[in-house]
Parts: sequence; structure tokens; C-alpha cells
Amino acid sequence: MRRFLLLIPVIFLSLTSGNSQSIKSPDEFLGYVLGTRFTYHYRAVEYFRYIAENSPLAMFREYGSSYEGRVLGVCIISSQDNLAKLEEYRKNNLIKTGLLEGEFTGKQLPVIWLSYNVHGNESAGMETAMKTLYTLVTGSYPGVSDWLRTCIIIIDPCQNPDGRDLYANRFRNSQNLKPNPDGNTWEHNQGWPSARTNHYLFDLNRDWTWQTQAETSQRIELYNQFMPHVHADFHEMGAESTFFFPPGANPWHEVITTWQHEFHNLMGTGNAALFDEKSKLYFTRENYDLFCPSFGDTWPLFNGSVGFTYEQGGSGYSGLAYRQESGDTLTLKKRIDGHFIASMATLKVSYENREKLIAEFNKFFSENNNNPSFQYKSIIIKGSNEKSDLDDLLQLLRKNQIKYSYAGNTGRKFKGFDYSANTEGETTIEKGDILVSAYQPQSRFVQVLFEPDSKASDSLSYDLTAWALPYVFNLKAFAIAEKIKPNDERIESQKLTNELPGKKPYGYIAENKGFNTLKLITALYLKNIKTRYALKSFTINGTSFNRGSFIVTRGDNIEAEKTIDQTVTELANKFQVKLTPAASGFVEKGKDFGSGYSPLTKKKNVALLCGEGTSAGIVGELWYFFERELDYPVSLLNTANAENVDLNDYDVLLLASGSYTRLKDTIVDFARKGGRVVALENAISVFATEKSTSLFKAIETRTSELKAAEKKEKSDDLSLLKKFGDERRHLLSERSAGSIYRVMVDTTNPFGFGLGNEWFMMKRSQAYPFLTSGSNIGYILDNKPVAGFAGYKFQKLIKNTMVIGSERVGNGEVIYITDDPYYRAFWKSGRALLWNVVFR
Ligand SMILES: [Zn+2]
Repeated sequence: MRRFLLLIPVIFLSLTSGNSQSIKSPDEFLGYVLGTRFTYHYRAVEYFRYIAENSPLAMFREYGSSYEGRVLGVCIISSQDNLAKLEEYRKNNLIKTGLLEGEFTGKQLPVIWLSYNVHGNESAGMETAMKTLYTLVTGSYPGVSDWLRTCIIIIDPCQNPDGRDLYANRFRNSQNLKPNPDGNTWEHNQGWPSARTNHYLFDLNRDWTWQTQAETSQRIELYNQFMPHVHADFHEMGAESTFFFPPGANPWHEVITTWQHEFHNLMGTGNAALFDEKSKLYFTRENYDLFCPSFGDTWPLFNGSVGFTYEQGGSGYSGLAYRQESGDTLTLKKRIDGHFIASMATLKVSYENREKLIAEFNKFFSENNNNPSFQYKSIIIKGSNEKSDLDDLLQLLRKNQIKYSYAGNTGRKFKGFDYSANTEGETTIEKGDILVSAYQPQSRFVQVLFEPDSKASDSLSYDLTAWALPYVFNLKAFAIAEKIKPNDERIESQKLTNELPGKKPYGYIAENKGFNTLKLITALYLKNIKTRYALKSFTINGTSFNRGSFIVTRGDNIEAEKTIDQTVTELANKFQVKLTPAASGFVEKGKDFGSGYSPLTKKKNVALLCGEGTSAGIVGELWYFFERELDYPVSLLNTANAENVDLNDYDVLLLASGSYTRLKDTIVDFARKGGRVVALENAISVFATEKSTSLFKAIETRTSELKAAEKKEKSDDLSLLKKFGDERRHLLSERSAGSIYRVMVDTTNPFGFGLGNEWFMMKRSQAYPFLTSGSNIGYILDNKPVAGFAGYKFQKLIKNTMVIGSERVGNGEVIYITDDPYYRAFWKSGRALLWNVVFR
């Protein structure tokens, strides 16, 4: 929708010279003492605007709006002189990185960026942001005037306004007259979904690299205009925990520089001094590691800044007051205190190290540009990859300011790492191949995103352990040790135009190629146009078309006779899909258009179960997929009243992972009566526990085999001698920490169309046996992942298991997908699978 497009940043710069005595504190402005209520987001925005209008030391910059229409904005705070020259400082900084061309005028100031409340229910953040802002513009903390004279400070009070307001509204809704510290009460337990996430239930602190969500992409667009030297992200953790500040925990990603490491230590010492003064408890170097690039600390680190995470004990559960196990009461006021001290420490330590910060920032980019550390100096992404999929990758690179060009050295053969083969290979540079060179400002980030297997200093990671982009997009690509010349030719996307045929054809063919074709077919369904797809490849008029290709015939759409040519042509042009008109339905090779091998498909009514028991994250991804990627309606049915819904109104029922015990009979009955159910991850258990299914039998057999094998092994299983101190490490042996597995695909099965013979999947959950009847469409034949960490016990279990399967249940059909194929909406190669299982 239009309103979500980027807004032109509006700058409000105060012309009146404010005086600190007349500036209202948050308490005065809000009409209550900070920490005694949860402030609504719009009030914080008003306060930020008020400060900018009344103090010459702050300006407000609106940078966009959330999905639900709330304002996203920051205050930029510095001395009047600095603010007057902000553009010069900003540009100088970018010139030093090499991301902006221009003349460096010699002036560079450290930019320190404080981000609060990325998780909506970690709500001490936004309250603290108001206090921090007030403190800075009134100079009411030792040293502030020096900080403002020598630094530019940017405060984002709330990165996730929709989650934040959901939390605040619900809390006010459920709170007792006096805050009740009893953790069992309604005010401490808000229910589904957690207000941690945004409108589409995405965790915005897992979205920095991927920028799938409007809040993230708009924020990073502003971030990239400054490229700050320090970025601090303020979170909250469990209500029994104390406070976490840097240094971060192991593993640290290997591209993190010695200085970034050292500055983490300095920041730790600086925080400790202020926390010690107030006798506050804290911990460092635990839990919050610096490895995966999705976060508000790692992403800035890979972008030349020093990124930090802070975690105050508290979070949504703790409300305004919470009685801890120790008997102490944790109040919102105390939580604000914790974040406030950390905010002051961040500014103080950054100020004290301001010269070194700038020197090291410049060195970071100079090394990136001239002397990259990445063992591979060139990444070649084959131009022969499907264009719309390649375009998605290039868009991600642009969002992360990673430069690319066409590759020179055409015709030369290079040895290198072949991602899809996951081993050494070779490629000949062809015209149209894309080059991502390591010699560029974002070199270290290129390394992070293209390293075939990311190296961690320790396998105990907080999140994913693999994300190499060629796997994410399933693109043919090579990493090459040599520096390859770029080709100077500019990359401009050529516009494809299908002309309206002079003579009305019998039908149109669109080859099954890339996600844009699927978007076209979806748009046709919405116009009530039926399509067919070919179960076998075919040749017509000397041109061959692949399996899965779409056919739109006049004969199937008699009621749209007058408009069909125009509709199909216009939509194909919109989605940039090549159409081939066919004068006849008679093919030279393969099956004719009217054959049973060319099944007819049309619009489907799609329902998605949400609510208590379902995994909000996966529900959100599917919701986002239909609305924001496909522009197709999906009905979210809440599990609380799903029993009262007539499911016969729907063709497809989607089950995100979750527990559906109460609805099991309803769901199985829907399938028996002819419906199609798609079960993701552990939602599969609905059918795994249904005795009549092939899955049930397969699991039964597999379990007894495993038990027998285990018995044999038990006597000498030394892993049983695990030490108490190794508890976490031992647990890891049984899981895959977001590693990437190769999935073999049955390319003759319509559900596998578009995935290729081999597809790569983010593997996180358990192993399922092959189905004995039904279809095994995608399966894993290896123990080891192609990238990332999988524990040794997990590896034993994963070989020869099903990941995509289907079987008939009564008159209907059930499709099992054991893991999330469209992980956090960045695993773009999984979209074809989701589309197939709904529409084919
Ligand atoms: Zn958080």
C-alpha cells in the first residue's frame, strides 16, 4: 500500500533558542511520573517533537511509519553548531567509508545511535528514551555539554510501535487498580500473540540483514545515511534476571575486529563503574553472542560500527511491579533506571574514546576497500539463474549497501567453491554473470553473507549458524580466490513487453520460471481466470516448455472471452513474465492442453489457523506471504472459535507449527471430506497421531528400529557420562542450530515444481521417516549439513528422512513440511513450495 512507501524525511529544526529551565520533563509533559504507567507510543512521539521544537539542541526526523500507521522517528541531538553543519558531518562520514563519493572537508564527529524497544513488550525502553532525551537537552548529567560539543547522538525511542502499543493497551486493559506484583495475574500474562513482535508477528531483532519488514527497512535507510560509529540496542530479558551489558558472549564472528572487541571491553568497564556505584547487579559475556548477522548488535558491527545489546531484567511479564523469587519487587521505575545508567555509560565511554572510534571506523573501511580479509575475492552469481529470483538477491544486496556489477574476464575459466555442489568446482565467466567483489566498502559484510560456512569461535550460538546467500535464494554461484575484473557496463533491468496478439490465440503459455510467474498466476486467479499446468514438459511450435508451465486457454475461460487477452497480457507485463501465445492446443511432444496431464486450477479459499496454541512467528510469516508477497487474501481463523466455523467454505487449511489437540478431529475431518491440509513443523503431529495415516505407521516402525539400535549402543554410550558443567553443550548434540541441509526433490511431483533437483532448507526440527504410502517429495540423504552446526546425535537421525511428503486422507490430501520453508520470510527459495502446496 502506498502509505508504506518511504516517506521523504521531514526535518523539524527549532529556530527559537530554548532554555533548559522552560523545557518540560517527561513527567510534566505526560502528566504522570515516568514508570507509573506504560506510555502510549503517540505520546512519546509528541514528546520527541516537543523537545525538537523547544530546544536548539535537538531535531526530529520522521523516517516512516509502521504497518499499523504509527510514526517512526528519531531525535538527533548535538550542539547548535554541530546541528547546523549536520549535513557536512554526515557526508564526510559516508565519504570516509567509500559509500559516498565527494570531497572530504576534514570534519568528522562520532555518531552514537541509541535504539529502544525493538521488542514491543520490553517496554522500559521507550520510557527510558524520553528520560535520556530530556537529560541531554537540559544538560542534567555530568559531562553532557562535552558530549554534545563533540558527538552527534541519535535516539530512536521505539523501533516497534505496533508491538509496544499492543502491550501498553493490553496492560491497561488487564491491570489491577494498584499494580499487582503477583506474577500469576492477568496483567502479567497477556496471552497470544506476545507483543514482542510487529503487526505481522515478526521479531524485528531478527530482521536487520533481511529487512523484510517495513519498520526495519525504513529504519535502515536512515541508518545508512549516517553509518553511526556506535549502536546500542536496549532490550529486556526474564524478570528474575539482573542486567546484561557488554562484552558480548562467545561466539564472536571472525570478521569482528580487535578494536571492536576492545571497545566492547571498554564499554563493559564503563558500565560496571556506573552500576557498581549504585550497587546494581549485572553480568557480561554470557548468552548474547555476536555471530549471526540478523541482530541490532551484529549487523552494526559488520557495518563498521560497534554494536551492543543491553538487557534489563523485566520484560512483558513483569508489568509495573513484579515480586521476584528473592522477595524484592521489580518495578518499571527500576527497569528504567537500569537502561538509563547503560545509556549514560554508552555516551560517556563513546565520548572518552571519540578519536579512536573515528580512526578505527575509517581504518575498517579502508581495509575493506583496499585489503579485504575474505579468502574469496570474488563471488560470481551466474546470470543464467532465474531472473526474478536473482533480482530478489540483488535487492537484498542493495538494502545492505553491497556493491555488485557484471563480471569482466568473460570466457575465462576459474576454479572456486561451487555452492550448490558444496565443494570445489569451476566456472567459465559468461556475459550477464554478476560479480560481488571483496574489494568494496562492505567487504567484511560480503564475507559474512557469502562465506560458504560461517566460522564461529564456539558452537553454542544464540540463533542460526548458517545463512550463505546462494543457499537462501537457491542460486548457482561460485566463490573464487582471485580478484576478477568488473565489467563497466551498468546493470539496468531490461523491461519485457508482451504485445497483444493480432489474432486471438487458443491460449497462452508461461514457463514455470521464478516467483514472478507464480505472482502472475495468483493475480489471474483473483480475476477469476482459470489456468492449467503441465505435469510433463512439452514442445509446441518448436519451442519446449518445462514441467509445471502454465497454460491459460480461451476454452477454460469462456465467460471472460472478451477481456482475457488484455487481462493476461497486462498482468504478464506487470510481473515481467514472458507469454507465448499458442494457436492450437495440439502439441508436438508431450501432452495436449486438454489432457488430464494438464490439470485445471483456479482460485482457492485459504484459511490459516492462528491464536492460542499456534506458533505466532510462523502464522505471521504465512500471513505476510499471502498479503505482502502474493497480494492474495487469507482468512485467519482463531483456534478459540475454529470449531464453530464451517470449514467447508475453504479449500486449503494451513497449520503453522503448534499444538492442535482440541481441534484434531475437526482438522482430520476437514481432510477426510476432501479438504487439503498443509501442516508445518510439529503441526504434523495432528496426523502423526492419527492411526489411519501412512505417517503414523512409518513413525511406529522407525521408533521401534531406533529403540533396538539404542539398546545395542547403550552399554558403551560414553555421552551418558556428561558433566553437569557441560549441560548446555550436551543438549546441543541433539539439535540442529539452524543449519542448512540439502534436500533432494522429486521434480515430477507438482509440489516440488520450481525447487530444482536439489533444494536447500534451514533445518531446525526433528526427523520424520519416509512415508510408506503417499509421496516423499523432498528428503535428506546425508548426515551432515552443507553449512552450519548440527549436533552429532541429530546427524545420526537425520539421514534418510522425509522433509516434504503428502498422502491421501479420506477424500482429501495432507501435505507435511517438516521445517519452515520460508524461514523468517528471508528464505526466498521456499516460496515456490508454499505456492505449490496451496495452488497446485
Ligand atoms: Zn529483546
